[in-house]
Amino acid sequence: ERVTTDMATLTKEVEKFARDKKIEIEGLRVRENYRKEFMGNVSHELKTPLFTVQGYILTLLDGALKDKKVRKKYLKRASKGVDRLLYIVNDLDMITKLEAGDLHLYKEDFDIIEVIKNVFELLEMKAEKKEISLNFDKNYSSIFVNADKERIQQVLTNLIVNSIKYGKKSGTTELSIEDLDSGKVLIRITDNGEGIDEEHIPRLFERFYRVDKSGSRQEGGSGLGLSIVKHIIEAHDEKIYVESDFGVGSEFSFTIKKAKDTREAETSIEDQV
Ligand code: ADP
Repeated sequence: ERVTTDMATLTKEVEKFARDKKIEIEGLRVRENYRKEFMGNVSHELKTPLFTVQGYILTLLDGALKDKKVRKKYLKRASKGVDRLLYIVNDLDMITKLEAGDLHLYKEDFDIIEVIKNVFELLEMKAEKKEISLNFDKNYSSIFVNADKERIQQVLTNLIVNSIKYGKKSGTTELSIEDLDSGKVLIRITDNGEGIDEEHIPRLFERFYRVDKSGSRQEGGSGLGLSIVKHIIEAHDEKIYVESDFGVGSEFSFTIKKAKDTREAETSIEDQV
């Protein structure tokens, strides 16, 4: 009788072991697929600019080097290709850190209006090239928030760059801030560009996801901008929203926590000056 009981226990244990192993292997398989997909996407993104750079170098070696004017033109284009590679690698670095939960937030009280003005200034040239006007009510006085300043600057940059890239020529990008009762502010970035079809909205924040027919390929970028934005906002325990009408325009918005005591924050900033 004793032997049968032991056999029953043993069978159960073996079954449990097999179940656990199956789950473990399934987990490994999911991770492996994820890794393969990521690597596939990375090499795909890197190939285009690498081919471009290689193309110019080969043409130069092939004789174009002799012509002073052509030489300069091709070297400039090759250099642009390298810039693009650096930009992509930078984004990849960031997304890897974010996905590994490896990015520490350095939260501090800072004036979000100042950061917005700074980002607008940096992107002014880019907007001008497309005759897009960047609008922001200059009458906003300081609004102190508590967040990672550099990361929030990146969120603003990515969203505004997109509004320019996918905005129409001579269009507008509008930034507005709403004071929410919950101790937060809502920052909205609205454009009247090409908009996004409803079917793409649920996948928009996935890494490498791009709405291809919108011509996003030729606009450059890595398809990582929005997933970086989402990671940063969620790391702050905040929310990001998107509303878009195909052919009409898009609005991206996100919340940030206000600094606890505005006056104190203002004083400390003044003290530093
Ligand atoms: P990308 O490097 O392609 O710009 P993002 O992650 O920043 O990558 O954006 C993903 C895709 O979402 C873009 O390729 C584009 O199709 C779409 N998109 C993002 N922002 C806008 C916008 N303001 N208007 C229209 N489409 C947008």
